[in-house]
Amino acid sequence: MRDPHPVTGQPFPSPVPPGTGWPGDPATGRTPVARTPQQVVRLAASAPDTAELDARVSVCRACPRLVAWRESVATTGRRASFADQPYWGRPGPGFGDPDAEVLLVGLAPAANGTNRTGRMFTGDRSGDWLYAALHRAGYASQPQSWASGDGLQLTGIRIVAAVRCAPPDNKPSTQEKATCSAWLDRDVSLAAPRLRAVLALGSIGWDAALGSARRLGWEVPRPKPRFGHGAEAVLTTPEGRPVRLVGSYHVSQQNTFTGKLTEAMLDAVIARLA
Ligand code: SF4
Repeated sequence: MRDPHPVTGQPFPSPVPPGTGWPGDPATGRTPVARTPQQVVRLAASAPDTAELDARVSVCRACPRLVAWRESVATTGRRASFADQPYWGRPGPGFGDPDAEVLLVGLAPAANGTNRTGRMFTGDRSGDWLYAALHRAGYASQPQSWASGDGLQLTGIRIVAAVRCAPPDNKPSTQEKATCSAWLDRDVSLAAPRLRAVLALGSIGWDAALGSARRLGWEVPRPKPRFGHGAEAVLTTPEGRPVRLVGSYHVSQQNTFTGKLTEAMLDAVIARLA
């Protein structure tokens, strides 16, 4: 069964096969597929740039539980309001400026957000909050992010995540986080020469960023810096360059609906990335 893309109208099956015309699809039918944790490590480390890294991430199948979950949501588990839309059903590749000086590290794609639209924080309330804030700060070309192909562009920031597949109950396992960390490590190492700051959303994003820094041989303060909204730590690359790690409560509805995270609080942490 094929459903029309909400922007282009082109019909797609779900999950979307790589290289078939989905707006922003970084992969082709020839992009190598990681099927084991070892293959993730090898394909991540050998990705020459963010374009190829994004392509390889977007076809990864190394975590059987998450592959089964993301594809079942894309086929039989769609939210009723999106039942007539195609679902990406693949990992969420990095999105944004390949020459960014700031990385944003999220938790994982949402089942009916990124897992449907194929773009980070796109098509759900979390994205509405995040991109509105990034637009206010000058990083995003528009405040809305509703579908791949909607014209949104980022300047100076690239969005990645600790885990790239939508997990059941938003809870990836320890093993899944460990397997996916090789993709994040490569994102951080490709960004490192110009990286100025990392914004970590939630404690999982915070721990993932610290873990990458350690594995890449960066100097990380001891004891381990504690996560909190507005928490800050300075990480130092092997070349001696300082990178500021800033923590923020996640933009999940759980936080934004309850007022735990307000627009002013999010704007304040984003301002500290400059
Ligand atoms: S969570 Fe990461 S490592 Fe696991 S299948 Fe998805 S992209 Fe691959």
